[in-house]
Amino acid sequence: MRASLNYNDYFKLILNNVDYGENILIRIEQTEDRGRTLFALSDIKYMDVLFREKSLLYGPLHDSPSVCLNCLKQVSDEVCEYCGLPLCTEPCSTYFNHDDYECNLFQLAKYRPTINDFESINPLYQCITPLRMLLTRDNLPDKWTILQNMSSVIGTQQTRECENNVVNYLIDYWKLDFTKEDVRHVVEVLKNNAFEVNSTTKTKPGGPGRGIFPLHALTNHSCAPNITYRYISEDDHMECFAIRDIRKGEELFNSYIDYNEDLETRRETLRAGWNFECKCERCLADDK
Ligand SMILES: [Zn+2]
Ligand SMILES: [Zn+2]
Ligand SMILES: [Zn+2]
Repeated sequence: MRASLNYNDYFKLILNNVDYGENILIRIEQTEDRGRTLFALSDIKYMDVLFREKSLLYGPLHDSPSVCLNCLKQVSDEVCEYCGLPLCTEPCSTYFNHDDYECNLFQLAKYRPTINDFESINPLYQCITPLRMLLTRDNLPDKWTILQNMSSVIGTQQTRECENNVVNYLIDYWKLDFTKEDVRHVVEVLKNNAFEVNSTTKTKPGGPGRGIFPLHALTNHSCAPNITYRYISEDDHMECFAIRDIRKGEELFNSYIDYNEDLETRRETLRAGWNFECKCERCLADDK
């Protein structure tokens, strides 16, 4: 069983990684029908930044070629000398905390991957980000507690694929000291709550990945959103900002999908990815 925290302790933990700027513009509430929800604490103007949040962790995409495990940049043949996983020689192999994560584990398992083709999708990469989440249990307990308390939706298409490539692989084949339920939970959290990031900065190339931002993850979906977000790779944080004027007391809504699509497409995407039927004002109006 996953240990669950009361809301206040949970918020306190996740807010450690959040910067509100000069004025606090949001309020979090546990609602009966919609779970944990964000509201505007005061009037907010178009383009105002509501908060900035550091990533809890990030890692490669679900479908990823064999990119550098630190900067996520495409590499051609550079690997970590200890574990054999892709890592660019300069500068990543010199400072990255890859040791705390998968590097040690691959060494312990005496499993040295051989990668001949760095450009094709590598199924092994489906395990990397879930593995980083699991490994917080022993090294970064606050992060583990947060991950345990994040919500997950069971039974999406990607989680079925992960059942083989991640859950069974890590537990049956690698014999990791976790339960299948633990692994399923992190896989589902990733599917439902991860945000795409890109580590490219103005001065160095990088690549796409997925990151966990627990406060951002509390925003509910609407097909007529009032906020959105952008990732700032220079110092690894996500910035939430208003895309229209918002009045005090309004609920803050982000869109999980491309909201320019028509009603049918939006419904299909939300059902496949998040397993719910959207009842936002726009969907209700479009349905008439
Ligand atoms: Zn790198
Ligand atoms: Zn390594
Ligand atoms: Zn909708």
